[in-house]
Amino acid sequence: MSTLQDRFGRRFSYLRLSVTDVCNFRCEYCLPNGYQGGGNDNRYGFLALDEIRRLVIAFTELGTWKVRLTGGEPSVRKDFPEIVRTLNAIPGVQRLAMTTNAYRLARDAGTLREAGIDAINISLDALDAERFERITGDRRFDNVMQGIEAALSAGFSSVKINAVLLRGLNDDQLPVFMEFVRDHPVSVRFIELMRTGTNADYFAQRHVGGAMVREMLDENGWTARERGPGDGPAVEYLHPDYRGTIGLIAPYAPGFCDSCNRLRVTARGGLRLCLFGHGAADLRPLLQHDHQREELKACIVDSLFAKTPGHRLHEGDFGHTPHLAMTGG
Ligand code: SAM
Ligand code: SF4
Repeated sequence: MSTLQDRFGRRFSYLRLSVTDVCNFRCEYCLPNGYQGGGNDNRYGFLALDEIRRLVIAFTELGTWKVRLTGGEPSVRKDFPEIVRTLNAIPGVQRLAMTTNAYRLARDAGTLREAGIDAINISLDALDAERFERITGDRRFDNVMQGIEAALSAGFSSVKINAVLLRGLNDDQLPVFMEFVRDHPVSVRFIELMRTGTNADYFAQRHVGGAMVREMLDENGWTARERGPGDGPAVEYLHPDYRGTIGLIAPYAPGFCDSCNRLRVTARGGLRLCLFGHGAADLRPLLQHDHQREELKACIVDSLFAKTPGHRLHEGDFGHTPHLAMTGG
């Protein structure tokens, strides 16, 4: 049981850890101009393997058992398999997951599974090459599709596809995704586009609510799965004729934050209490030596007092998140 608890009784057993801000894609809603470098922050670089190890040990001693590695694009880090191996060897880490754009997953799926990744989320907003290139600025649609097949063969306990709903770009794609899960045992989750510090105009133009997904699923005989206590924010829909499932993540829906079970750490060691929060603590100075562990744990526990009951996206407050490549989504 996690000892990390906030003032509202929510427990945090899940850490999302960004290992790099760098990304090789240019998703229109995230990094439309590509990764621009870290400016002054670059002096410090991203967390090194030892810093990551110390951080995750501290979190597991506070009851965290699930860690998701994200970015930027985590697989651009050359030592990524080594990070996975190191974290997999920490006894408290029971589930190690990653989120990836899958550009090299066809090649790496087996290695990552062997290194200790249990579950993998792949971001894919369209199932055809032309739209894929339009949205991501990248031509490697075929590599990504091969990556999905490789992930399914590699024996991960779960393979999920995340698709951001975009008005006029993929909001007519639900039937195509439905067809895909007919014989692929994957969960496709539609995520409502979120407003960040740098995508205001894009958000105004492309945001579309999840209601249309819900309606189409209802009309086609899909039923929502009963939610369990440890469930994340996605509502999952099932259909007896389909091997896969369809999920919906609607961050603007009422009560979305009530089931929050995760904390985030940026690639430079910043603790984030909410995807749309303001920075809570710089953990990096406490990641330099093994003997700092108790101090580090106390800092994480104390920081939790500042966690608010929910985000304030409705009021136009999206925190210090210029784009989700900073916090890993
Ligand atoms: N590069 C990796 C990838 O794309 O899977 C990991 C990082 S990416 C920031 C994590 C997730 O955030 C992706 O599924 C992406 O589609 C999603 N994302 C990025 N910006 C978003 C936004 N403004 N609204 C909703 N989802 C977003
Ligand atoms: Fe890169 Fe992921 Fe952002 Fe796309 S969503 S630009 S793949 S970090």
